[in-house]
Amino acid sequence: MRDGIIIRKYENCIICPRRCGADRTKGPNGACHAGSEPVVNLAMLHHGEEPPISGTKGSGTVFFEGCPLGCIFCQNYDISRGITGAGKTYDEDALAALYLDLQEKGAHNINLVTAGHFIPSVAKSLRAAKENGLTIPVAYNSGGYESIESLKLLDGLIDIYMPDMKFFSSSLSTELCRAPDYFKICCDALNEMYRQTGPFVLDEDGIMQKGMIVRHLMLPGQLFDTKKVIDYLTKTFGNNIYISLMNQYTPFDYKYKDMKLPAFLQRKLPQGHYDTAADYLILQGQTNAFIQDDASGDELLPDFNS
Ligand code: SF4
Repeated sequence: MRDGIIIRKYENCIICPRRCGADRTKGPNGACHAGSEPVVNLAMLHHGEEPPISGTKGSGTVFFEGCPLGCIFCQNYDISRGITGAGKTYDEDALAALYLDLQEKGAHNINLVTAGHFIPSVAKSLRAAKENGLTIPVAYNSGGYESIESLKLLDGLIDIYMPDMKFFSSSLSTELCRAPDYFKICCDALNEMYRQTGPFVLDEDGIMQKGMIVRHLMLPGQLFDTKKVIDYLTKTFGNNIYISLMNQYTPFDYKYKDMKLPAFLQRKLPQGHYDTAADYLILQGQTNAFIQDDASGDELLPDFNS
């Protein structure tokens, strides 16, 4: 039986900064393409995350379907639009059981991927899992476009935040995800996340126990934007967080008629631009960073060097 408060949150949905007001109890009516019941596409031990997250045994990763941001270059389009046909609905108790199963399989942590549009259910599921023996850290993996009010529902339940900071420029975020306010919203969200976790902590094996990893996927032709993101993160958080600079952008193959990539995104990222950004990150004094190998390929399996 779904909790009445949770259902009300989905009835006139303002969970994310889009604030659509959609009634998700009647189906996936909002910009996130998600109804009111969490849909999980895949749960697995993930070995391709940053080393303090994947460790040696893997990160217990749960991929949720749908996404409020809907970037036109999305590297996980099938999952974010909920069109794989592989997703299964989970109520809060079933989610809690899923986390406990991943813990049983040896996961270093639970890693919730793009769960922001299901925050009320996720918060309840985490409480249930913790009451039933979940002890490993919980990581929250996000596009960075989250409302403060919703993030506060996770206070005390999340140990590690792994948000993206995708764009600095408002014109870029408008063109690529219809969110002119992306940078401002993301800055506020990261501040709230950092307020909840504080500086990062690793255990004696180098596995992250709490803290924040901010990811930035470089886009072709947007080196200036990347530098502005680096400037902000290094000035605001310095070495109290990790910064993960990602190079695996891949133009998709136009099989989706409702999306059209601008010309500048119809190519891979020049490796020289990635190397320049990595050097810039180091020049800003950032020592806690992850840099990827050349042409990592599948975004589920990025290879990181710290
Ligand atoms: S979570 Fe979905 S329905 Fe709710 S405000 Fe965001 S995009 Fe709209």
